[in-house]
Amino acid sequence: MRKGEFGKEVSETLNCISELLERSSSTFILEMRTEQNNSDKGVKIREVRCSTLLHRLNFGERPSTEYTINLFRGCLHGCTYCYAPSLIHDDRRWGSYVDVKINAPSILEKEIRRAKKNVVFLSSASDPYQAVEARYKVTRRCLEVLKKHDFPILILTRSPLVLRDIDLIKRFGWARVGFSISSVSDPIYEPAVPKLESRLKALRRLNDQGVKTWVSLAPIVPKLVLTNLDWLFKKLKEVRISAISLGLLRFNGYEQSKVMFKERTGLDSGNVLIRSQETLREVRALAERYDLDTSCSSLNWTQEKTKENSSIDSFLSQGNR
Ligand code: SF4
Repeated sequence: MRKGEFGKEVSETLNCISELLERSSSTFILEMRTEQNNSDKGVKIREVRCSTLLHRLNFGERPSTEYTINLFRGCLHGCTYCYAPSLIHDDRRWGSYVDVKINAPSILEKEIRRAKKNVVFLSSASDPYQAVEARYKVTRRCLEVLKKHDFPILILTRSPLVLRDIDLIKRFGWARVGFSISSVSDPIYEPAVPKLESRLKALRRLNDQGVKTWVSLAPIVPKLVLTNLDWLFKKLKEVRISAISLGLLRFNGYEQSKVMFKERTGLDSGNVLIRSQETLREVRALAERYDLDTSCSSLNWTQEKTKENSSIDSFLSQGNR
């Protein structure tokens, strides 16, 4: 397979998911090609076992009480700006591998018994509904554990595969499902991310089913606003999202990601990040003109808006997932 073809192939496959789900409500299998010996040309999927799963959602210096779980190590969406490579320090090419934590549900079952109830965020360093989830169902099985123990959940994905689990998500006492949309919705920057239109369709479907939704507009790359924001905000209003969080691209503390961005796009981070705060203000003002809620208070499961208790909001408004 020639360079670039893999990303296109996976992206196109994923774009079929929402249509498949329109026709088949609960089960489908996505077959992925694996090349175990050539990670440059194919996807390398590895089954691994983890010893811990439930972690505090730490973000810089900010203390937090929420949790995050990452069911996968690596992400096949392969976004060129992703900060996760800087967190997991893996020599393999970002986007070409994924380790599936096949024992995650049983580890979570043990950990959750000792945990104080709070929001569990899926996920901070991988997409919980990337293509391999169709086969392994580790995200679904972890949701079943969280439901059993009545923990609130905050999901963030770029994949309509989340529609598969609507039945389960609807049974949670508190659940929010979010889609990430960046200002660079283009295969150059997001080689294997499902099309924006399929994410908008999925948001509508979730709302039609009574699931509260939100959008993380991130990363916003100040010099690369390729997504038509007027069009997008109008659509988001139409599909009735509850909240939108805005996150600028940041490379501070994410050196590996900065290098990857330059290597893969040819663009220097210093050049694309100028006017960051002004751009953020302009995007916020535009979102509010479309009457979209940028406060993110609906993402706070305690419904308390004190500084200490709205930390999940501040995480999401600063991060680039
Ligand atoms: S930004 Fe999110 S979806 Fe993109 S590669 Fe990173 S973890 Fe995956």
